[in-house]
Amino acid sequence: MVSVRDLRKSYGSILAVRGISFDVAEGEIFGLLGPNGAGKTTTVEILEGLRRADGGTAHVAGIDVGADPAGVKHRIGAQLQSSAFPLHLTAAEVIELFATCYDRTVDARAVLATVDLADRADQWNEKLSGGQRQRLSIATALVNDPKVLFLDEPTTGLDPQARRNLWDLVRRIRERGTTVFLTTHYMDEAEVLCDRVAIMDAGRILELDTPRALIGALLSRGFSKPVIQQQADLEDVFLDRTGHELREG
Ligand code: ATP
Repeated sequence: MVSVRDLRKSYGSILAVRGISFDVAEGEIFGLLGPNGAGKTTTVEILEGLRRADGGTAHVAGIDVGADPAGVKHRIGAQLQSSAFPLHLTAAEVIELFATCYDRTVDARAVLATVDLADRADQWNEKLSGGQRQRLSIATALVNDPKVLFLDEPTTGLDPQARRNLWDLVRRIRERGTTVFLTTHYMDEAEVLCDRVAIMDAGRILELDTPRALIGALLSRGFSKPVIQQQADLEDVFLDRTGHELREG
């Protein structure tokens, strides 16, 4: 569903992406990880047809992104930061606005139902909670029934309940056949959610495999750290006291 070969991109003297290659299979949840400045956003923006590569090739959903950047935009969904939505539009109106951009007519309430926001259809988008806004943002990326959904740090700033709720949503989206390509700085999130992850640094991919295989390989190289006897952490306390139920205000 995504196929990248020797992809390169520089900004002046900065080599942001230095010849990376990888494939993402249909129906996979794939995570692109890496420290700040690793080249993740540059890579994702090239795949979305928003930025031109200097060299190499990228195919997304069968489209050569370099040759047909407009074509790829019709086959993918890209989650925008929710703060980009115009004020005083209801959640349903935001969905209708995005559908118009794709020249589609959609049942906004049905789209909102897929992200558990049917009951917020008539609420102004800026009045939604952080988790609800993030789900609305994902809903806008689903209006054109994409083959690949790109999510850029989808759970940044969310509380533990809302993060787990979003993980469930991402899994449901994959179950309906959509390939998910996400970036995250949360390793726990990548470990529980992603089928495979690529670890990128300074424009290169250092590792690419399942989280379990990467952890296994590290251990087999003799890695060890002091075993923490504690069977629970502060997040367990937080969830024990406040419950797993989603809070949305
Ligand atoms: P973060 O986790 O902070 O979002 P990232 O892995 O997404 O980082 P990129 O945003 O792709 O990394 O940046 C890769 C490198 O390219 C960095 O050194 C960054 O400063 C540089 N860079 C990114 N965009 C531009 C631009 N438009 N002009 C010049 N340099 C840029």
